[in-house]
Amino acid sequence: MVFDGADFDNHELVVFGRDADTGLSAIIAIHSTNLGPACGGCRMWPYANEADALRDALRLSRGMSYKNAMAGLPLGGGKSVIIGDSRKDKSEALFRAFGRMVDSLGGRYIAAEDVGTSVADIMAMAQSTKHVAGLATGHAASGDPSPFTAYGIYLGIKAAAKHKLGSDSLKGVRIAVQGLGNVGSHVCRHLAEEGAVLFVTDIQPDAVSRAVAQFGATAVEPGRIHAADVDIYAPCALGAVINEQTLPEIKAKVIAGGANNQLATDAVGELVRQAGILYAPDYVINGGGIINVSAEVTQSYDKAAVLRQVEQIPVTLSDIFRRADRDNRPTSTIADEMARERLAAGKRTALAAE
Ligand code: NAD
Repeated sequence: MVFDGADFDNHELVVFGRDADTGLSAIIAIHSTNLGPACGGCRMWPYANEADALRDALRLSRGMSYKNAMAGLPLGGGKSVIIGDSRKDKSEALFRAFGRMVDSLGGRYIAAEDVGTSVADIMAMAQSTKHVAGLATGHAASGDPSPFTAYGIYLGIKAAAKHKLGSDSLKGVRIAVQGLGNVGSHVCRHLAEEGAVLFVTDIQPDAVSRAVAQFGATAVEPGRIHAADVDIYAPCALGAVINEQTLPEIKAKVIAGGANNQLATDAVGELVRQAGILYAPDYVINGGGIINVSAEVTQSYDKAAVLRQVEQIPVTLSDIFRRADRDNRPTSTIADEMARERLAAGKRTALAAE
């Protein structure tokens, strides 16, 4: 069941691909091209089953439409998933095969890095298609987007702290960071530089040891980080971590982190509001990486311009926070409405130009 499934949101196109020789099984979901070609990361993950992989692709691609719209980019929303264990199943041939799958869409989808994939994997895809972004070398290469994502998250955390805690200074503020990968580790560095008191977790013990050594962070069990006694909870691992089970245990007054799809369902947004917690909508606060990638797609990469655009993220968030307070509605709903308005306006412009 796809069209009637809960996660299907009138996606324009969903493609299933397999390459038996390399063991590739992948799904590309294009949610919307109203604002431009669909651009979003390629995730490699050992999904328990195909339904989970499809669900992730559908939810993540919608998130990319909203994210690109809210970042003001000339890009639509898409995402891809490769079913496999990134620690065991990777090969250059597999990513070349995936590149051929991307190429078959003729530029309607542009692939970038995500959980489980690296710049090296994107370079392998680039051998079969030009419709990739986040390259290490070549004309307009923008490289690893994670530091830009992390910078935007750091600025977004400050905006949320100002709104909810009364000051944007993070000195002495207790912050729990869940996930210490590409994004989480850079977020920790920014926060530590400003004197925040860090509580960290990851399912990889070496990542935790590094954060403890580098930032003087306190290690927390992976399953208990949401319940840490902190001011701010920054989810930077996987999605659905804010749900009916975790929410009653969350002590933080602010949830602001980089993971995509943090709310298990849209309805959780209202429960978060009722709990008196300020939630920074994930696809707004984590837009820094796609802003950087976008600069590569438009073939005019300029780091200073990228940073200026990333610095608009806290401005957009503050606008969402104010509207949510004014209307007594969840920040997640306000952001969704703003994004959908931008997508609808893009479609009207595109149709008018036909
Ligand atoms: P990553 O794979 O480098 O890091 C994820 C980390 O989370 C890993 O260290 C992993 O071990 C850890 N992890 C996984 N499950 C966990 C759990 N249950 N508890 C604690 N830790 C766990 O990925 P990343 O690039 O850092 O991305 C992190 C999140 O941010 C993802 O949701 C991703 O979609 C989102 N995101 C990333 C970017 C980017 O620029 N990389 C941009 C926007 C959004």
